[in-house]
Amino acid sequence: MHCGLFFFLRRHYPGRRGRGHSGLHKCNSRTSARALRRHRKSRKEGRVNLPALRNLGAEEMSSQKYDCIVIGAGIQGSYTAYHLAKNNRKTLLIEQFALPHARGSSHGQTRIIRKAYEEDFYFHMMEESYLLWSHMEAESGVQLYRQTGLLVTGPEKSRDFQGMKEALELNRVPSVVLAPEEFPQHIPHFKLGDGHGAVVDTTAGVLYADRALKAVQGAFQKLGGVIKDGEKVSGITPGSEVTVTTASGAHKAASLVITAGPWANAVLSHVGLQLPLQVQKINVCYWREKVPGTYSVSRRFPCFIQLPSEMEKTDIYGLPSNEYPGLMKVCYHAGSETDPDQRDKQTDRGDVAILSSYISRHLPGLESVPAVVESCMYTVTPDHHFVLDRHPMHSNIIIGAGFSGHGFKFGPVVGKVLCELSLGRPPSHDLSPFKLQRFQNFLKSTL
Ligand SMILES: Cc1cc2nc3c(=O)[nH]c(=O)nc-3n(C[C@H](O)[C@H](O)[C@H](O)COP(=O)(O)OP(=O)(O)OC[C@H]3O[C@@H](n4cnc5c(N)ncnc54)[C@H](O)[C@@H]3O)c2cc1C
Repeated sequence: MHCGLFFFLRRHYPGRRGRGHSGLHKCNSRTSARALRRHRKSRKEGRVNLPALRNLGAEEMSSQKYDCIVIGAGIQGSYTAYHLAKNNRKTLLIEQFALPHARGSSHGQTRIIRKAYEEDFYFHMMEESYLLWSHMEAESGVQLYRQTGLLVTGPEKSRDFQGMKEALELNRVPSVVLAPEEFPQHIPHFKLGDGHGAVVDTTAGVLYADRALKAVQGAFQKLGGVIKDGEKVSGITPGSEVTVTTASGAHKAASLVITAGPWANAVLSHVGLQLPLQVQKINVCYWREKVPGTYSVSRRFPCFIQLPSEMEKTDIYGLPSNEYPGLMKVCYHAGSETDPDQRDKQTDRGDVAILSSYISRHLPGLESVPAVVESCMYTVTPDHHFVLDRHPMHSNIIIGAGFSGHGFKFGPVVGKVLCELSLGRPPSHDLSPFKLQRFQNFLKSTL
């Protein structure tokens, strides 16, 4: 279940007065001076006075002020920080874990990038995203994208398949419709379902995710941006100047961007907001090729998306073998609910059984038991669209959340619009599908 299926502004949330926040906020200069004296005295006497240390207060521990602070160094936060630095804003990117890490949503070697989207707003965002990814390739000197094409297949007459095919035509995305009789000569070793259509978005391909994240963070630092990793944000005090508290101190900035991925609601609780987000653990499955190379990127096997059918209720997607030689990544586009801090306690493998059955029927060149299973997380909204908006009460707090398992490819453009919101500039894309307000209506309609 979604957590409560609604968002709320807690009427009595601590907000500006700092009620309920850590002691750091309540610490005025007199108490912190006292604490500092106590701490120095203890040190002279060779005693370590931990409460005194805690009471040292934010002021003594960090005096840096920034134009903007970004919480969360996944792909969305890293790209937002990069765009802010590119706009000459003194920017701090804070990450709870030591970088790089594999505990959020942006790790792993590959992601699919495509223009094949039914919704026009995503298509327009992707047009710019491709351009910005290529700029990042040029700026970092690292290859981040490999064109492979994307096969979209599903019941020929279904709304999903027709919608995707029409969108590709309408938006003039270079694509090819493959009739069943010619399909095997173009894409061998893949058995189309009975009555299933096939269309290939030829612009699509693979993004090298880990490399991309490293490149964006490196570019941000080259622009003078500061990354503090291994620092978990434990408090936020809104105001015309926002204070962000971590175990190492307090950081201040004129604006704040929250891009905390699966921890979005944990961080948003500090600013009185909860969104209808469901965090799902995804089993990232790799399947061994019976003959090595059958589905390899070098033999031009494409990425694919299998749209829902009677057999599979949710999308299944795959990427050609590449990162692990001889292994192809094929995953189910949904998982079981998890607490992001307890990810590995979620051991449901129902999706793996569905994938095994799918592979036996459609990908006969793969063994039908996964050779490797890794973990990742989706943060899913009720309509599977993102949240890109301002906090309803604090206009200098910007939120990017709920990327619903398809946000990586949008990283450059999501970062750009979050940066624009943070700078008070009109966003370069229509953000109406991504407003917080839509959850209010959702709540009313379900009552
Ligand atoms: C298996 C899998 C396959 C996917 N495939 C695709 C695909 O093919 N194409 C595509 O476009 N997308 C894909 N996605 C989705 C995409 O990867 C995500 O939408 C995207 O990575 C989300 O990035 P993020 O920055 O929002 O979250 P994250 O990467 O999770 O970043 C959030 C960061 O915030 C940090 N943080 C949280 N709380 C705090 C705190 N209190 N203090 C400091 N830091 C904090 C976290 O540690 C984390 O590093 C896939 C996702 C998965 C899991």
